[in-house]
Amino acid sequence: MAAIILDGNKIAQQIRTEVAAEVKAMIASGVRPGLAVVLAGNNPASELYVRGKVKSSEEVGIYSEKHTPPANVSTEELLELVKGLNSRDEIDGTLVQLPLPQQVDSKKILMAVDPAKDVDGFHPMNVGFLSTQRPGLVPCTPAGILEILKRSDIKIAGREAVVVGRSDIVGKPVAMLLINANATVTICHSKTRDLPGICRRADILVAAIGRAGMITREFVKPGATVVDVGMNKITDRSEFERLFRGNVEREKVFCTKGSTLIGDVHPEVVEVAGAITPVPGGVGPLTIAMLMSNTVRAAKLRRTGRIER
Ligand code: NAP
Repeated sequence: MAAIILDGNKIAQQIRTEVAAEVKAMIASGVRPGLAVVLAGNNPASELYVRGKVKSSEEVGIYSEKHTPPANVSTEELLELVKGLNSRDEIDGTLVQLPLPQQVDSKKILMAVDPAKDVDGFHPMNVGFLSTQRPGLVPCTPAGILEILKRSDIKIAGREAVVVGRSDIVGKPVAMLLINANATVTICHSKTRDLPGICRRADILVAAIGRAGMITREFVKPGATVVDVGMNKITDRSEFERLFRGNVEREKVFCTKGSTLIGDVHPEVVEVAGAITPVPGGVGPLTIAMLMSNTVRAAKLRRTGRIER
């Protein structure tokens, strides 16, 4: 039987509706959450992401502002910008869009964001809060993955979870969230031996690798829940054939656009898994929804003094 499709668009919409209601109540009590987005240089993909973040803020009622320093901005200039945002009371969240221009020391910039306003959850202080289960800010994509699982009634406690990928942005934080939710977690990476064998143990398999369709049916235990975080654009015809042969809808997209989006999970896995997030329309939509949710959370935590600095 084909897997249940976990609809990320629907869940993201639920979250945005809830956030909008919270924002409305906060505004009524005199506090409007505010988000500042810093976009340095002119990376087209980053411009697209930032546009989505600003638009989404407006939709849920969050005040937002965009700062666009030029591509030749220095580390010192960006530090000044971030410090300025740290000191403004009406700004609850500061998001520095990555990647930053080459000459900028990204780590220095991310460290300079006030942890109480770090809506990306990348500051080591928030990483520590997550691992010690204290109130803090959790990275958006991993937080979104947990929302998908919980809102889809996928049991986590006591189950075997395998996360493929150990990045600071996805793999490690999602593994930590799964541990905190009482799963038994294994983290895999490029040096892992017998990756298919380990993945086959998973009741919940999270693929955050960045390799088109790498997780084939031999990696998946029948009935497992598969979360596909990957976002890979394919333009090569033979690659397309390997992944989507016979898929009429995808063929249309590929012929029109010359490319199509695929996750880290091979489409054939839908025949083995019990539930699966699609690409597009799975994890992706949750990332911005959780940014909105994090901004409200940051406003509440900071204004009630519940997040340490
Ligand atoms: P990343 O920083 O490149 O990390 C990839 C991880 O995969 C690394 O830990 C790497 O292992 C591991 N890996 C690579 N090849 C492997 C292999 N053959 N076998 C086992 N493990 C392997 O990527 P990321 O930032 O975590 O992102 C992962 C994917 O998620 C990308 O496709 C990205 O576009 C997507 N993404 C989506 C969203 C969203 O909103 N949907 C958000 C963020 C990222 P090593 O550590 O050993 O190198």
